[in-house]
Amino acid sequence: MATATEQRTFDSLGPATGAVVGTHPVHDAAAVRAAVESAAEAGRWWAGLGYEGRRRRLLDYKAVLTRNLTRITTLIHEETGKPVADATLETVLAITHLDWAARNARKVLGPRRVPTGLIGINLAATLEYLPLGVVGVIGPWNYPVFTPMGSIAYALAAGNAVVFKPSELTPGVGLLLAELFAQSVPERPVFQVVTGLGETGAALAADPGIGKIAFTGSTATAKRVMAACAANLTPMVAECGGKDALIVDADADVAAAADAAVWGAMSNSGQTCVGVERVYVVERVYDAFMRELTERAKAVRSGEDYGPITMPSQTEVIRRHVDDALAGGGKAVVGGTESVRPPYVDPVVLTDVPEDSSAVREETFGPTITVRKVATVEEAMEKANAVSYGLGGTIFSGNARRAMELARTMLTGMTAINSVISFAGVPALPFGGVGDSGFGRIHGADGLREFARPKAISRQRFALPGMNLTSFGRTPAEMERLVKLVTFLHGRRRS
Ligand code: NDP
Repeated sequence: MATATEQRTFDSLGPATGAVVGTHPVHDAAAVRAAVESAAEAGRWWAGLGYEGRRRRLLDYKAVLTRNLTRITTLIHEETGKPVADATLETVLAITHLDWAARNARKVLGPRRVPTGLIGINLAATLEYLPLGVVGVIGPWNYPVFTPMGSIAYALAAGNAVVFKPSELTPGVGLLLAELFAQSVPERPVFQVVTGLGETGAALAADPGIGKIAFTGSTATAKRVMAACAANLTPMVAECGGKDALIVDADADVAAAADAAVWGAMSNSGQTCVGVERVYVVERVYDAFMRELTERAKAVRSGEDYGPITMPSQTEVIRRHVDDALAGGGKAVVGGTESVRPPYVDPVVLTDVPEDSSAVREETFGPTITVRKVATVEEAMEKANAVSYGLGGTIFSGNARRAMELARTMLTGMTAINSVISFAGVPALPFGGVGDSGFGRIHGADGLREFARPKAISRQRFALPGMNLTSFGRTPAEMERLVKLVTFLHGRRRS
């Protein structure tokens, strides 16, 4: 672990009780520098292990995480306040991703021959994806294992070392992930954690030894991180949350859609980047949907079905969005302003909220949902696509073909059909957004390539007689042969 060069510390607190869960050093830029330098050295060793060596160790890490499930989930519960069952679900998903990344890294990134084409007939062309060195991961608090592991597992499998700065709200979970990694890889500090507040993350983003930053958090902070990265032209992947919509078509299973909407909006207290924040329902099934939705939402209990709001300042954001919705003519059909009683927020269902209200346009990150009646599914999609975010979304429809067509028109990185957030549990599917939701991808083959650089190698196997084109010694006859060849290959109109 990096050592703090000064004695500053900070506490992580349990959001339900305010009790101190742990005290951790505030690592400054010098401590971050030291961590990145030692990670760079460890990363060279890690890269040198090759795919098989890394696969074996990462699968062992996966087993260590699985055996320590209770320890991990207890700490997640303490630091975030979420129920242990939800902590278990996110850790199991993270383990699944780690397994996939370890098993698929060689297939996705390893050397492969690619066709050269006729003009390069004398060449052998090889493509492979090499590690970037040290990947800096800046993680959030809402899923302190699942979300950063979407970068950490894929970066490690691609042969990089990782320096992870967990959120100041969940430093203990970050440290535990690295401690357990060291059980599987005791030789070198390949995966390190630096703790601290925003400025520790800023130092990581600005460190010249970083090959790429993987950031998850707010759009505003992503812009600051990107500005810090600009100094060294450090590339970045940014996962910045969303304002995901759920669309209910006229032929949908209304009860299933309502069930998914409530869970998608309220689970984890709504603190989910791909949580459902808006619902658009075709008018034919609106009344039936609302009956199912309100009944279910009223039965959900904060403090039992989900925990407190992890970040204390977020309750004010939630209150503002609810107030704004009501002031604009919206109706609270479940809960209301009084539902915001820090550190808990009870379920809130709002209807008829103006589409320009903050409750519809900004990320609320609370157990609230807006529902709007629309004439057609096309109108639903138009409204769903009318925000600056574009992370995930959901479509409930009785027609699989139609649902697929609709999914393609949704301006997001991911869409779930007839289930909610299901894409996050499929390791082969890339995860990431468009617009204010960020750019780049974690998970899947794209997630592995995100943490690697393509390396192209062309090897001349023999000299092409009469076609020595990259030489000052080439002749007009050789150029003429080239023009003849290209005319033959590309000069005809073909379908
Ligand atoms: P931030 O974007 O402020 O923080 C995310 C991460 O970035 C944390 O690890 C944070 O560290 C770190 N950080 C903060 N400032 C800097 C900086 N200048 N340079 C580098 N790293 C920095 O999000 P918040 O936790 O404050 O949450 C605010 C809002 O962001 C939420 O209300 C929600 O809307 C959204 N959000 C979205 C998430 C998602 O899943 N996409 C996850 C979390 C939040 P530290 O915690 O120590 O300040």
